[in-house]
Amino acid sequence: MNQHMRPEPVPFIDIAAQRRRLGKSVDDAVARVLDHCQFVNGPEVFALEKALADYSGAKHVVSCASGTDALLMVLMAKNVGPGDAVLCPTFTFCATGEAVALTGATPVFVDVDEETFNIDVNSLKRGIVTARTRGLKPVAVIPVDLFGQSADHDAVAAVAEAEGLFVLDDAAQGFGASYKGRKLGTFGLATATSFFPAKPLGCFGDGGAIFTNDDELANTLRSIRVHGQGSDKYDNVRLGLTGRLDTMQAAILLEKLKIFDDEVAVRNQVAERYARGLGNLVTVPRLATGCTSVWAQYTIRLPKGTDRAAFAAALQAQGVPTAVYYVKSMHQQTAYGTFPVADGGLPTSESLSDDVISLPMHPYLDEAAQDRVIAAVRGALSA
Ligand SMILES: *Cc1c(COP(=O)(O)O)cnc(C)c1O
Repeated sequence: MNQHMRPEPVPFIDIAAQRRRLGKSVDDAVARVLDHCQFVNGPEVFALEKALADYSGAKHVVSCASGTDALLMVLMAKNVGPGDAVLCPTFTFCATGEAVALTGATPVFVDVDEETFNIDVNSLKRGIVTARTRGLKPVAVIPVDLFGQSADHDAVAAVAEAEGLFVLDDAAQGFGASYKGRKLGTFGLATATSFFPAKPLGCFGDGGAIFTNDDELANTLRSIRVHGQGSDKYDNVRLGLTGRLDTMQAAILLEKLKIFDDEVAVRNQVAERYARGLGNLVTVPRLATGCTSVWAQYTIRLPKGTDRAAFAAALQAQGVPTAVYYVKSMHQQTAYGTFPVADGGLPTSESLSDDVISLPMHPYLDEAAQDRVIAAVRGALSA
């Protein structure tokens, strides 16, 4: 094909298309903040917290500076520290275990389920035993709603309850998804999410939020996000952070929240179409009973023996970008290699790292672009 006739690459995610759709509504929201000049703790911050509480059904929403801070602040509020073990899946973005390690506690990595890529409760049970054998005190579990699909929150809650752990849901990729008809944000003690631009609900920079029904935890989190302030502003009562969400980002998120459900519906249509076009060739994502997804990623598994690098290159040549989430699970990374792993090892995570690959996924992928992705995958595998 002539160089000039080659179609534009399919965007992996398309923030620019969303920006065009939002147009003046976002410009106006930003202009209002520029006018009132309350760049920190402005009215939009509290309006957003209220809107997110209404959306999720959580009693309290505490916005914050990032998804990582959202996780960290909950662990800080619960005084998690040295000698404590926090169980988390190894097949996740590094921030899940990083927040644990930053408190001085020990992340104990557990395996994930082959079908959903979410935490495997049998491995979780083994991980709790492993932690105790090492002289650590298991205090919490962080299930992750990976790639947008809700984890099996009832199964996690049952183990947590039996073992006396609190649950901190990492919904950085899954906010907006539901479990047995209930939106994420109300499972466990608290839920953390991220508004990083590439997440399903993203802002124009960094941001995050914590959801909880616990009054005391919400108060502690509001103190932690302002350096641990107490009622006397000159007497800080605990350690904290500069953990606030900028007013500008809150104003942008208020506009994006208005179109979020529509975007999630389109993501689901794209996922269904991919599954129809690819299901007989590769392992397409499976939604567990009672779980929905907001499709932060559309991650397929290639047939055993496929050369993934060659497959990615073949798609790239057709203008179809891919990414591998995750080439290395947390326990395989330099910074985390010395932390304990659940007894029995993490074989599913290790095998996923070898054969997963993620395809373009966003709500602005029209059917022609979807067909190009499907054709490129089919072509690469039949070559
Ligand atoms: C993105 C992400 C985070 C961290 O969010 P940031 O806002 O980038 O700090 C945490 N956990 C998971 C699973 C994520 O995907």
